[in-house]
Amino acid sequence: MSPAITYTVTAFEHWILSYLYVKIMPSFNRSVLLELPIPATMDPDQLMSCGQMMLKFVADYWKTIENRSVLPSIQPGYLRPLLPSHAPEKPEQFSQIINDLESTIMRGVTHWHSPHFYAYFPTGNSYAAVCADILSAGIACIGFSWIASPSCTELEVIVMDWLAQALDLPEFFLSTGNGTASEATLVTLLAARSKIFCQMQKKDPNITLGKLLDQLIVYCSDQAHSSVDKATLIVGCKIRKIVSDDNCVMKAAQLKQAIIEDRAKNLIPFFLVATLGTTATCAFDDIAGLGKVCQDENIWLHIDAAYAGSAFICPEYRYLFDGIEYVDSFSFNPHKWMLVNFDCSAMWVKDRTYFINAFNVDPLYLKHDYQNVAPDYRHWQIPLGRRFRSLKLWFVFRIHGISGIRKYIRKHIELAKLFINYIENDKRFEIVFPSTTLGLVCFCLKNGSNELNEKLLKSLNEDKRIYLVPSMVKGRFILRFAICSYLTEVKHVDYAWTVINEITTKLLTKT
Ligand SMILES: *Cc1c(COP(=O)(O)O)cnc(C)c1O
Repeated sequence: MSPAITYTVTAFEHWILSYLYVKIMPSFNRSVLLELPIPATMDPDQLMSCGQMMLKFVADYWKTIENRSVLPSIQPGYLRPLLPSHAPEKPEQFSQIINDLESTIMRGVTHWHSPHFYAYFPTGNSYAAVCADILSAGIACIGFSWIASPSCTELEVIVMDWLAQALDLPEFFLSTGNGTASEATLVTLLAARSKIFCQMQKKDPNITLGKLLDQLIVYCSDQAHSSVDKATLIVGCKIRKIVSDDNCVMKAAQLKQAIIEDRAKNLIPFFLVATLGTTATCAFDDIAGLGKVCQDENIWLHIDAAYAGSAFICPEYRYLFDGIEYVDSFSFNPHKWMLVNFDCSAMWVKDRTYFINAFNVDPLYLKHDYQNVAPDYRHWQIPLGRRFRSLKLWFVFRIHGISGIRKYIRKHIELAKLFINYIENDKRFEIVFPSTTLGLVCFCLKNGSNELNEKLLKSLNEDKRIYLVPSMVKGRFILRFAICSYLTEVKHVDYAWTVINEITTKLLTKT
């Protein structure tokens, strides 16, 4: 039979074929197949005993995390000589893997939850979220549509409403969870592109997306997160960075000027990403001013509040999102500062039509009877598959309550203030780009050159007692001190200050 001829096996033929295989074909032996000793992957007893070992390992890790060097002392490629060059041919014991962890994996871990970790921004963690993730992994459903696992969609709708209420977001927002803030920026950008394309098509039915793309331009501040660049690269349109003011804040006047210049070049501004809590200095763009411009100019306003968004759970910080009524979409990361482990990003949009437009692909096998009454979250994201992420939020809300989350945020902000106090009372240092200090403090050596500040940071990180990362802002090399760990207490900030003090003294007497 030539391979080009398609051939349908009828039930009878199928029966004959399997009969022949079983009876005659020596290589296909039913009894052998049944006896093959494949280990039971979903053995509940194994889950209990191995799970206990794993939990004990993590619990011991949390207990000792403070005593571990926050940065590992290894070089790139360290792991290869420690592991076999091939995957094991024969199965191994779970306990053996656990025994190997310290000498292999743990040697190369940067301890993000160490109380001596002050780099980047925090990433959340809690026993509540970890336990919820065990359930998510145990159920292991793929909740791309309502019918694909109803509680997955329904819990998400509910906890996103809880979250919106806890942050006091405007009621008109419809919500969805995402993996990351970067994904949220990308999908809203695609939705905004779909919106402007629909609008332009009404004016000119012959316009193609290809032609339009040449004219579309995205705005963000020069302080926006790199994920905005990435999103525009993927979508294939131009981007213009609006120059922020001396405090790193993007203002309406600069946006307006850019729009005038770009419209004169026949470009079409259609999307602005404003940031509440920039990554470098935690600056807050003026969304009330920017929002008015966006409204007048038919520009979709997306807010990236990846880090700072969690602070809005405290009423005293809500003034920071003044102007939220102008916003078309808003996202923040509970996985940064709300006790939820990675990944869990929340996003709200005013009008979901354009999401459905941008992503609606409807093959028959994904259709179901409830499409019009329940959201199918696959239309809100790039991948089809979707984890049961809302469990983490649900557990965290229930274990800590809104009051507990507020306490945690406020404590971090108080610890940051303690650090500011140290810096301000030492003549060698200065606070730079002071905006609303949440848990991030930016500082540097007063009158110190970039080179000197770079040396200070290098010495601190080579010392490895604490870990900070720098930032280059408006030509200045600055040090960022972010309160990150749930475990960080006053004594740790005191200790960090002692380390910084000691290393600075050493550095300044040398130079
Ligand atoms: C951390 C951060 C991001 C990236 O978040 P992911 O969830 O890792 O994509 C985006 N924007 C800002 C302002 C951030 O601080």
